[in-house]
Amino acid sequence: MSKPIPVHAEMNQFAVDTEQLLVGGKTLDQIAQMMDQQVFYAYDKSVVKKQIDKFHTHIPKAIKLHYAIKANPYPPLVNAMKDWVEGFDVASQKEMLIALQSGMPVADISFAGPSKQVAEIRAAIVAGITLHVESELELKRAIEIGEELNTKPIVAFRVNPAFELKASGMKMGGGPKQFGIDEERLLEILPDLDYDKISFRGFHIYWGSQNLKVEAIIDAHNNTFMLAQKLVDATPVATVTVNIGGGFGIPYFAGENRLDLAPIGENLTVLLKDYPKLADIELIIELGRYLVAEAGVYASRVTDKKVSRGHTYLTTNGGLHHHLSNSGNFGQVIRKNYPVAIGNKMGGAHIMEKVTAVGPLCTPLDTLADKMSLADPQLDDWLVVFQSGAYGPTASPQDFLGHPHVREILL
Ligand SMILES: *Cc1c(COP(=O)(O)O)cnc(C)c1O
Repeated sequence: MSKPIPVHAEMNQFAVDTEQLLVGGKTLDQIAQMMDQQVFYAYDKSVVKKQIDKFHTHIPKAIKLHYAIKANPYPPLVNAMKDWVEGFDVASQKEMLIALQSGMPVADISFAGPSKQVAEIRAAIVAGITLHVESELELKRAIEIGEELNTKPIVAFRVNPAFELKASGMKMGGGPKQFGIDEERLLEILPDLDYDKISFRGFHIYWGSQNLKVEAIIDAHNNTFMLAQKLVDATPVATVTVNIGGGFGIPYFAGENRLDLAPIGENLTVLLKDYPKLADIELIIELGRYLVAEAGVYASRVTDKKVSRGHTYLTTNGGLHHHLSNSGNFGQVIRKNYPVAIGNKMGGAHIMEKVTAVGPLCTPLDTLADKMSLADPQLDDWLVVFQSGAYGPTASPQDFLGHPHVREILL
């Protein structure tokens, strides 16, 4: 008996017209002509909007949605999202400027990051955004800079929770971590801080990323509410806001399915009832890839097709210098294929051919798709990598080997 072939979750977020994939209503050929580029990232605004709508359908209205800009800081995308989410979370001074220039109110912009430089702390205080303070020294620095500027820094504490996420995915809390202040230490120092010298906002409890397990997320939310209540109780001044983390994942690999938000929302509704004191505070969920990854494709042209000892290779004009995460070198332990298709042969009856698609870099790491069945791939076809709207160009070593940088478009 042969094993069933694992399939990727259906990439049905884009329309298809006579076999042509449409992004924002345009075929890849049309996008190539508009941009004068034969390799690019294209993002579909309507798909981003649909993900945000899905969030609001299931998650209680009392919980606000923030976008973590590091997932995709392309300014036209950030500007479009400004009207669709209730705040931005930034992780550098450059992201802060993108967020500010989008027109998002400063009160709804926060800055987290484990090694903020003094100049970044100063920039955040002058701008008037919320600092997610990650250490006791950072608090001291913020207070000193605030005194110098005659401005109270707006401070929320990033907490390293004692609980750990009960699932795979990227753990960013529990045990020793470089992020935030350990919950037990924070509970110790909270009663006696110099609250006169800061404008105290609240807490940021971040426990992980790229999670597709409903049970694990529910468990993390239960733990987060319990911890938030303890922190609020230990603080002698009023807590304005608690960021309860994010971590909603999207399916990248064969066998993974889209996250069902319904039970997560139902559990949050129960938690809001069980913790009435927290329900009166502004609660925030911050998401990056969940909002934008499904909306993006990375499209490159097939430039050669050759056979090596019985195995067919496609070469393309795109590669890991543009899309490190698809190559498997951005946190994957064992390389797995992202969903890939021939963007001008969607549906229809084609002979499927098992091929490996590679980029132009002189390293075996530069693999776009390994031994995948694609629809009759030929020279000049479009090789499309789905789920590419997050951690794309800005998470890739674009200068490696000196090929041209990739361009982006939002449609
Ligand atoms: C990276 C990060 C995010 C975004 O993670 P996603 O997996 O893209 O949702 C959100 N918040 C913090 C603090 C982060 O470090």
